[in-house]
Amino acid sequence: MTIHAPGRIEVITGPMFSGKSEELIRRLKRARIARQRVACYKPDIDLRYHRTAIASHSAQTHEAVTVATTEDLKAALFPNLAEIDVIGIDEAQFLDSAIISLTVELVHLGKRILIAGLDTTFNAEPFGPIPNLMAIADEVTKLSAVCMTCGAPAIHTQRLGQSQELVVVGAAGLYEARCRAHFQPYLDEHHSEQLELTPTN
Ligand code: ADP
Ligand code: MG
Repeated sequence: MTIHAPGRIEVITGPMFSGKSEELIRRLKRARIARQRVACYKPDIDLRYHRTAIASHSAQTHEAVTVATTEDLKAALFPNLAEIDVIGIDEAQFLDSAIISLTVELVHLGKRILIAGLDTTFNAEPFGPIPNLMAIADEVTKLSAVCMTCGAPAIHTQRLGQSQELVVVGAAGLYEARCRAHFQPYLDEHHSEQLELTPTN
């Protein structure tokens, strides 16, 4: 069995507009300056700006491969794995729970895995695999945005309007960052029904 130097899991999380993608792009660019070989992925649910790149709300980009599932990500990654040192994943909250075991597998192969994603949904519930990934990470960076009501640090993503689907992809106009005091979760008889749609993996 080949013994690999230990890898590293870094999770970058927080609400929308907190600078997760910016921070991921910054780390990926620095890795490339250090001549490390980088591969970046994102789930295809997020087609906001580009199919072949991740993008921040401040228009910074980094090339990325779009994948539908963790299985897809694995299929894209593994043939080239020997040539890759650093693996970036943006919007990881949209991936299925298999991303957790894949991350563990990759870190044992000596890879550095940079994972960006929302920690909570618009109902302030833990979002998909991110809480698990935070638990197993070497380092968690929890960023805050700026509350659009008062300017305080914002930890929540407020959905504007009436839609209660878990996944409504978009940005400005559909969501805004809010602090604890100004965040209003959707609360009525549909609330408990809605929570069942939240991935629990
Ligand atoms: P995330 O990936 O966390 O959604 P991005 O990295 O895409 O965040 O975008 C962060 C950028 O969004 C900030 O640098 C800033 O230019 C812009 N921005 C827009 N609204 C806000 C806000 N309410 N709080 C902080 N930054 C904001
Ligand atoms: Mg982002």
